[in-house]
Amino acid sequence: PRLHVAADLGAGTVLPLDRAQANYLLNVLRRGPDDPVLVFNGRDGEWRAGLVQTGRKAAALRVVGQTRPQTRAPDLHYLFAPLKTARLDYLAQKAVEMGAGVIRPVITRYTQGERINVERLRANALEAAEQCGVLALPAISEPVRLAAALADLASDRLLVFCDEDAPVADPVRALRAAADPAAAPPLAVLVGPEGGFSEEERGLIRARANTVALSLGPRILRADTAAVAVLALVQAVLGDGR
Ligand code: SAM
Repeated sequence: PRLHVAADLGAGTVLPLDRAQANYLLNVLRRGPDDPVLVFNGRDGEWRAGLVQTGRKAAALRVVGQTRPQTRAPDLHYLFAPLKTARLDYLAQKAVEMGAGVIRPVITRYTQGERINVERLRANALEAAEQCGVLALPAISEPVRLAAALADLASDRLLVFCDEDAPVADPVRALRAAADPAAAPPLAVLVGPEGGFSEEERGLIRARANTVALSLGPRILRADTAAVAVLALVQAVLGDGR
């Protein structure tokens, strides 16, 4: 198992576990003192730790040695229009698993519910990081309006705009025409809400230089399907901006 901890990590560090973590390791995973546990804090890489039972239901971890050095989050921004809560949890997890280094909720005309629980997004992202092994936690920002999100993108960052109205063409060719894979361009992807973008928003997005409107095929994908598809495609063709 891999656990995120807040503490600094070094050989010999003892990490007290909260009751939920102790219960998870001792009773759910039934780990014993000789079973290694991997810990990371998002800054010091990944370390192997030994489980020390300190009471009937209490435990701590003693950090032994580093297993992986710290890695930088991919320079891949994932901009999305928030969805209903259940799908939002799913979206946050998939964005982390699929390599997003920045996760940016964008408020658009047809976004459901402007109030989104960013702490919940962060908790889902952390859980996904523990599960999928990323060491750098993605930065998750408060929701911003579309125009502000576009203005915040550096001009050299290629924006891949998932546009179901774009002509169904070869997405690999379209991406290669938009950026040189060898140059590892900084990247951002943008996926709209279940209700799609308004015509005005579409104009705003397309007006931005260094933006490619990309069709993901002839079917209308759910926003969370489009998210996984475009993150996989962009990284396969253009890398992840490392
Ligand atoms: N206009 C859609 C409709 O008619 O139902 C609503 C938007 S779709 C459910 C949600 C988002 O996923 C879109 O805004 C777009 O960003 C992305 N998307 C869905 N299908 C796509 C496709 N075939 N190509 C590119 N992007 C797509």
